[in-house]
Amino acid sequence: MKGKMKAVVKEKPEYGAVYKEVDIPQIGPEQVLIKVESISICGTDHHIYVWNKWAQENICPPQIMGHEVAGVVIETGSRVKKVESGDFISAETHIPCGHCYQCLIGKQHICKNMKILGVHKNGVFAEYAVIEEVDVWKNDPNIPRNFASIQEPLGNAVDTILSGNVDGKDILITGAGPVGLLSVGIAKTFGASNVLVSEPNKYRRELSFKMGADYVVNPANEDLISAVNDIFGEKGVDFTAEMSGNPEAIKNGIKAVTPGGIISLLGLPADELQLNLTQDVIFKNIKIIGITGRKMFSTWNIVSNLLKSERINVSPVITHKFPLQDFKKGMKLMGEGNCGKIILKP
Ligand code: NAD
Ligand code: ZN
Repeated sequence: MKGKMKAVVKEKPEYGAVYKEVDIPQIGPEQVLIKVESISICGTDHHIYVWNKWAQENICPPQIMGHEVAGVVIETGSRVKKVESGDFISAETHIPCGHCYQCLIGKQHICKNMKILGVHKNGVFAEYAVIEEVDVWKNDPNIPRNFASIQEPLGNAVDTILSGNVDGKDILITGAGPVGLLSVGIAKTFGASNVLVSEPNKYRRELSFKMGADYVVNPANEDLISAVNDIFGEKGVDFTAEMSGNPEAIKNGIKAVTPGGIISLLGLPADELQLNLTQDVIFKNIKIIGITGRKMFSTWNIVSNLLKSERINVSPVITHKFPLQDFKKGMKLMGEGNCGKIILKP
C-alpha cells in the first residue's frame, strides 16, 4: 500500500521522540501489513524514549518505536500462509532467525540471533505496521479485543509463574510494574495459595491488591525478609517471581525462598551483581531460572485461552488509554511509575 501515515519516531540519539508523518512501510514476501488497532507501552519503549545507556547501545535512530500491538491484516506477502486480509492479529516481538541450533530444536524464543520488533527494526507506534509472518498470532475472535495488545507481556507473566509450579504454594513477587501486576493475577489463576507482593510505589501496591495479592509490603520502609518470616514463618516462600530487576529485590528474593524452592528471574538488573551462592543457593539447593520472552507459541495459546475464558481479569492493570499523538503523556506516567499498562490508539 502506498501513502503516508502518522507514527511516533525516535528521530535522534537523544531524549524524546516525535509524532510525524512518514511513508506507509512496504512488505516483503514473508511479511504482513496491519492497520494498527491498539498498542501498549512497554518499559523498553520508555528506556528508548528517555535514551538510557541500554538504548544508546542498542537503538539506531531514526526508527519507529513500539512493539506490543494488535491490528487487522490488510496486505500479505506472496509467501504468507498463516493469515489473510481481514484477520485480527497480535504480534510476538522476538524475531527468530529460523536456522540456529535453538530454532532448529523448536526453541525459537531463545534464538541465538534474535532480533526484536521496535528495537532492531521499525516498530508499531503508527497507523500501519509490518509484522514478520513468523511472529503473527491470529487472535481468537472471542478474546476481549481491548486486551489484545497486552498478550505479549501477559506471556512473560505466564512463563515466569508457570516455571514456579505455584499451585497450592506460598509465593513472593518482587516488583509490581505491569508485568508483576499481571503475574499476581496469573499466580492466583494457577492456584497459588498466598501471594505476597513487594513494591515501593504506593499506586502499584494498591493495584496489587486489585489483582488478587494476599499481602503487600513496601520494601523501602519494611525489611522484606522479616515480612516473609512474619507471614509465612521461618520456612519462607516456595517460589519467588523477580519482576523488578532491582539488585536488593533479587538478593532478598533468593533469601526468601525455602530450601529446595525456586526463584525465576524476569527483571533485568542494569549491572552485574554479587550473590552469596554458597549460603543462599548451593546449601539451600534452590533453583534459579532465567526467563526471556515467551514460548512461540505455546505460551500464546495459554494466554489466549485465559483471556477467552475470562479466567483472569486484567482490567485493573490497564490504567490509562490515550490517542497515539498523546504518547508523551504515557511516557511521563511511565517515568513516574503511577500507572499500570498504558494503551495507545492510532
Ligand atoms: P517496571 O520497571 O514497570 O516495574 C518494575 C517495578 O519494580 C516498579 O514498579 C518498581 O517500583 C519496582 N521496584 C523497584 N525497586 C524495587 C525493590 N527493591 N523491590 C521491589 N520492587 C521494586 O517493569 P515491567 O514492565 O513491569 O517489567 C518488569 C521487569 O522485567 C523489568 O526489569 C523489565 O525490564 C523486565 N522484563 C524482562 C523481560 C524478559 O524477557 N526477561 C520482558 C519484559 C520485561
Ligand atoms: Zn535462531
